Amino acid sequence: MTYFDHNATSPMPDEVVDAMRPWWGVPANPSAAHRYGQAAAAALERARDEVARLLGVPSRGVVFTSGATEANHLGVRGAAALGFDQVAASAADHPSLVAAVRSAASAVWWAPLTPTGVWAAAPPGSVNAWAVQLAHHESGVLQDVPPRASHRWVHVDATQALGRLAVLPPADSVAVSAHKLGGPVGIGALGLRGGDAFPSLWGGGAQERGRRPGTVSVAGAVGFAAACRLAAQAWAERTQRWNAQRPRIEAAIRRAGGRVFDGAERVPNTLLAVFPGLEGEAVVQALDLRGIAISAGAACASGSAEPSAWLSAVGEVNVRGACRISLGPTTTDAEVDQLIGAIEPVIQALSQTEL
Ligand code: PMP
Repeated sequence: MTYFDHNATSPMPDEVVDAMRPWWGVPANPSAAHRYGQAAAAALERARDEVARLLGVPSRGVVFTSGATEANHLGVRGAAALGFDQVAASAADHPSLVAAVRSAASAVWWAPLTPTGVWAAAPPGSVNAWAVQLAHHESGVLQDVPPRASHRWVHVDATQALGRLAVLPPADSVAVSAHKLGGPVGIGALGLRGGDAFPSLWGGGAQERGRRPGTVSVAGAVGFAAACRLAAQAWAERTQRWNAQRPRIEAAIRRAGGRVFDGAERVPNTLLAVFPGLEGEAVVQALDLRGIAISAGAACASGSAEPSAWLSAVGEVNVRGACRISLGPTTTDAEVDQLIGAIEPVIQALSQTEL
């Protein structure tokens, strides 16, 4: 399979699997007092240090969660519990961020988007919390993050930016998920700049300093840390490769009559395109028959009849679904050549059947 859906989930490199292997099948409860528990606790803290480094937060500010969905809810709800509950957000962002804002905020100011996908206006002065998705999961468009200040809370969903930008902008809380950068599915983190200063939102054990009760997956945390380590080491090489590969794919899309959403600054691994008159889903299916995996927008929206919130928000109300192509740590030039060779015949064949 030739894989271009890294924004949904990126395959785990051997280094990540090898790092996790010792933690499968052993009793790894970091809260246990015996030697197995102590070894698990030590591995968990080493993993925490590594994840903290890539997030740019103190180690005690890393709260392991099940993924970015939970981290978005934890960050936004925790901020609201601290009084930062007048929130600015975009309804075109990931459903987990939008749902967290809807459930926690006393008042929400929804940002309009420009046709290129960036916030079109500044929030009113009454806003004391920002919930910003740094890189959009469908378009890759990067959003400005306001500077930190004591009178407001800045929560950033950096799920699609971690490992793809050299550094993350400073924020009070940052949500990420391991499987977007080659770590395992089922673990993520909320990074807190203030370290300990965060409420306990629900009861349970004392894990994660009470901020996220429940036993942490040590294998998951170790795999997440290995993926962070690789991303930091390989950032320059990956970025250079994506910046060479992505424009070649974009040129092939344009040759086939497609349009790429390239009006704003984006993460280097993501492109979103539309082919006039064609369903995004039809293109996905036709490429799948040739062994090439892309996506018709976000994986979490697949199976839903709803149009993409992002396409609607940027005023693209007449398009029939888009195609997202996302590159990853393992994407080779040969895979890109295979995709480029398939685009034109696939679009031609589909256009003929649509007529
Ligand atoms: N935020 C963004 C921007 C995402 O792309 C995703 C995954 N599609 C999530 C949050 C949720 O991550 P997870 O499914 O790992 O909870």
